[in-house]
Amino acid sequence: MDSYHNHTDFSDAKTPLAEMVAAADLAGLDEFGVSDHLVLHPEGKIFEWAMPPERLDEYAAEVRRVSRAAHRPVRLGVEADFFPATVARLSALLSRYPFDYIIGSVHFAGDFLVDEKRKPWENLNEEERQAKWDRYWDLVAQLARSRAFDFVAHLDIPKKFGHRMTEEAPAPALAALDAIAEAGMAVEINTSGWHQPCREAYPAPALLEEARRRGIPILINADAHDPAHVTRSYGPALLLARLAGYTQTVRFKGRRRSFVPL
Ligand SMILES: [Zn+2]
Ligand SMILES: [Zn+2]
Repeated sequence: MDSYHNHTDFSDAKTPLAEMVAAADLAGLDEFGVSDHLVLHPEGKIFEWAMPPERLDEYAAEVRRVSRAAHRPVRLGVEADFFPATVARLSALLSRYPFDYIIGSVHFAGDFLVDEKRKPWENLNEEERQAKWDRYWDLVAQLARSRAFDFVAHLDIPKKFGHRMTEEAPAPALAALDAIAEAGMAVEINTSGWHQPCREAYPAPALLEEARRRGIPILINADAHDPAHVTRSYGPALLLARLAGYTQTVRFKGRRRSFVPL
């Protein structure tokens, strides 16, 4: 198995990269990838949970340094937020580095951070919540159409605090999946959702089945912010993938993909 969605002290985790890679060795992973947060906000806002773009040189060099001593391939990834207004600048910036993969994330529906706090969701009425969901799915579709990313992070993350969609697979979610399929992108089963108030991996089983029906490849990732979590809940994730009809996972090297049997 691989683990491609992991954070270090370059962004919002406390652990240095070398320790995360040591954890990957202990877990017996085939490939390990690091994907710290990068945010190019349209208004230039800075977020302490993201790596400043000025640190990309150091980040890429550290991945190269650590990978030389590692027992398995260490892939250079990044979890970059999608904004329609900055995606061209993001692509130009990232093209200067030898990334193996680029994860596209939608954490922002406009000014609304969908996964930061429970309170803002509680302050919305049901109609406003569904409007946030619609906005989210529209941004995911735009993310796919931008062709700037290799896979989408934690699809359906707005459910994190338990504020779900009214339907299992509403039209805007299906339209986003269509766009992902059209772009030849993958999605991840992100196991961190099982450890959040929603108590469900991202995406929900119904959406995973819709992804499989469209031939969208998957990865299994833990979104680890702690060395103990690099393969957290991989057992249930494997089961979920098989139940949805998946027989393989995708991996990336130099932004080219290959497949491994599940
Ligand atoms: Zn994320
Ligand atoms: Zn993440």
